[in-house]
Amino acid sequence: MLTTSSKGSESRFSEIHELAEASELLAILECPICKEVPFPPIHHCDRGHIICFNCKSKLVNCPLCKANFSEGRNFPVESIILNSTLKCVYRANGCSVVLKGDAMEKHLKQCTFKGLSCLCHLGRYTSCAHSVELLPIPKYLSHLREGHMMLPNISKSPNLIFESGVLAEVSDTFWLGDYAFYDSKTFVIRQFMRNGLVYFSLGLIGDQQSAKKYLVNVSIASLTDKVSKVNWSIPTHSILCKEEEIMDKFCAVIPFSYIKAHSRLVSPSPNSKSSNKKIKLNFSVEYTLRHCSESQSVS
Ligand SMILES: [Zn+2]
Ligand SMILES: [Zn+2]
Ligand SMILES: [Zn+2]
Ligand SMILES: [Zn+2]
Ligand SMILES: [Zn+2]
Repeated sequence: MLTTSSKGSESRFSEIHELAEASELLAILECPICKEVPFPPIHHCDRGHIICFNCKSKLVNCPLCKANFSEGRNFPVESIILNSTLKCVYRANGCSVVLKGDAMEKHLKQCTFKGLSCLCHLGRYTSCAHSVELLPIPKYLSHLREGHMMLPNISKSPNLIFESGVLAEVSDTFWLGDYAFYDSKTFVIRQFMRNGLVYFSLGLIGDQQSAKKYLVNVSIASLTDKVSKVNWSIPTHSILCKEEEIMDKFCAVIPFSYIKAHSRLVSPSPNSKSSNKKIKLNFSVEYTLRHCSESQSVS
């Protein structure tokens, strides 16, 4: 017993020692500009300084010695990196993934901490620089607040988001609605109109794994007859999801004509002589969140 346990701690010690050496080695191999461990293709200058592919594409010569970049790739360095254990480059955004270099290369393509382009330019809010430049997910909420002056939805119960507004009949549109906090996470309403259909969905400011844990009840009550009500129970989605995927899997869908029949008309007013006959309606929809594991409460 004693022998086994002392052997165990000895090998753990040597593992830690190896890891320390590996991280020192990786520090030597990092790109002089972005300070990240580069992935193939890795190039170097005529004097041998390595540089990552991204930084090289923005420069004309070596940032360390001004020598020209050589044509060839640095295969030994590439192979050392692909066989080393690396931390995700988006660790500052909150990613804690640690993988072998080749697996890390795959992870980086789909890391949810990489960031997203701001959805605001597509909606009723003014566009911003982040429609092009990626924004880390943990910073997205403060961006909505400070960059777009969006205020959270305050309703009588924490899992209820009540969205109301004016809906205009247009062929193709998308808009962000209110957002709310539930279970210490932030959810934002995303709605679409396409080919005479209206799509309602709720996005989690987070990854798809977390979004799978929540369901949302979408409910539209008639404003005309006070009796009709339609309900859907749909999963929430990650705001990293592409529009087509959301519309395909994570939406409650209803014809615009149904909403028209159950809403109050804003314009055109019945006695309006205006040639602009675009229909605008007052509408409201309720989003009620719950955990997947909870059974649906009957209201
Ligand atoms: Zn670089
Ligand atoms: Zn150089
Ligand atoms: Zn060769
Ligand atoms: Zn990552
Ligand atoms: Zn923005």
